[in-house]
Amino acid sequence: MKTYFFETYGCEMNIAESAAVEQLFIARGWKKSESAQTADLAVINTCSIRETAENRILGRLGWFSGLKAVRECRPGAKAKMLEEAAEYVRDGAKPLTLVVMGCMAERLLQSFQKDYPFIDYVVGTYAKHHFAEIISAVEEGRKPFQIDDSEQYRFASISAEPGAFSTFVPIMHGCNNFCTYCIVPYVRGRELSRPVDEILNEIDLLGKMKVREITLIGQNVNSYHGTSTKASADDVNFAGLLQKIADHLRDTSSPIKWVRFMSSHPKDFSDDVIDVIAREPVICRHIHLPVQNGSTAVLKAMNRRYTREQYLELVGRIKARIPEVSLTTDIMMGFPGETEADVEDTLDLMRQVKYESAMMYFYNPREGTPAAKMEQLPVEVRKERLQRVIDLQLEHTHEQMSKRVGSTVMVLVEGVSRDDKTELLGQTEQHEKIAFKADKSKIGSFVNVKITELSGNTFRGELQ
Ligand code: SF4
Repeated sequence: MKTYFFETYGCEMNIAESAAVEQLFIARGWKKSESAQTADLAVINTCSIRETAENRILGRLGWFSGLKAVRECRPGAKAKMLEEAAEYVRDGAKPLTLVVMGCMAERLLQSFQKDYPFIDYVVGTYAKHHFAEIISAVEEGRKPFQIDDSEQYRFASISAEPGAFSTFVPIMHGCNNFCTYCIVPYVRGRELSRPVDEILNEIDLLGKMKVREITLIGQNVNSYHGTSTKASADDVNFAGLLQKIADHLRDTSSPIKWVRFMSSHPKDFSDDVIDVIAREPVICRHIHLPVQNGSTAVLKAMNRRYTREQYLELVGRIKARIPEVSLTTDIMMGFPGETEADVEDTLDLMRQVKYESAMMYFYNPREGTPAAKMEQLPVEVRKERLQRVIDLQLEHTHEQMSKRVGSTVMVLVEGVSRDDKTELLGQTEQHEKIAFKADKSKIGSFVNVKITELSGNTFRGELQ
């Protein structure tokens, strides 16, 4: 039996795409290997979002080059740090097929093909459907073939890991926004929306598996503009899609009870979307609304195309319509040109919104983007500003979560707690973790739990 190994970097899109490709291997009778050292084929799904991520992956490619040499029993191949592989080829060579996919494969396609000859297949964002052919070639012991990289993007068919209760459903791909710090539009291309019927079909299949919660994903889901079917010419926007999904789940009595989405661009978050969330209980009362920065001047330099006032008005409209909503965000500190007054604006915006949690990071120039050519702030300044934001967010997270102690909430039970094997761990509709005592038979179902305590960032509770 052939074995495969995955190493995935980056965002939800990559996680979903790796899981989708993994299904192909499983369907063909391949087994997952815990180690690349003894796998027949290894896939590295790459991320270009930050230079540090790319450098780390390039370092890993060096390691894989050494591993391939050991697996091919090449004279002089160094077995140091690769003992498991050396042991594996004691009775003769067992070549490893190396596949690189994802954003770096798209961005550096030619350079990978020319300068990294040990990579057997460089699979760009638009060429993932070639995996079936790659699997056949490995099974039949054929030499690697050249992939045609001039094709259209195709959405992967299904991205749930077997047995998973939660999974991602890609609804769109690419981005038209060109935020000045971001490489995504250059590596993922322009926005492309998946037809509604394809999305609903995938949701039906997921419901028949064990999935109970889905997250619709795309670089900017709010600018979704799909058609009902591939052949139709109508225009369904994101609010329309959410409504169609909610209706479909109700009409089919689907076991999927929670629908989330990410990422949202605030400039495209319409009142219609707010209304659907308020109207349809199946859409989670949790919105990730990346602000990036609280200063209008910095937002302008970032080309985010909203002001701090517009963002705060949007938050006001969401909270008025969905009072129980939990808001989370992304915040980037130390962007070129950011002043102390801008930092105060960000802290002030955080105090007004009171996010439940946030992804916080300092700006790191990304080669190939406009912001990388701007005059940079010293790294220490960027780090110090980030720390102030983190400190404030920790206070807000505690404050927001504490308010919910004493309430009874619906929980999706995900498994046994790692810290205490007698407890189960689940998540709330607002995406918080909660631990409680209950029988393992509850895993994979929705239960009601009374929140009794907040310990760190995890609730403790009692099954009702
Ligand atoms: S919206 Fe901006 S940050 Fe998000 S993917 Fe598009 S360009 Fe990048």
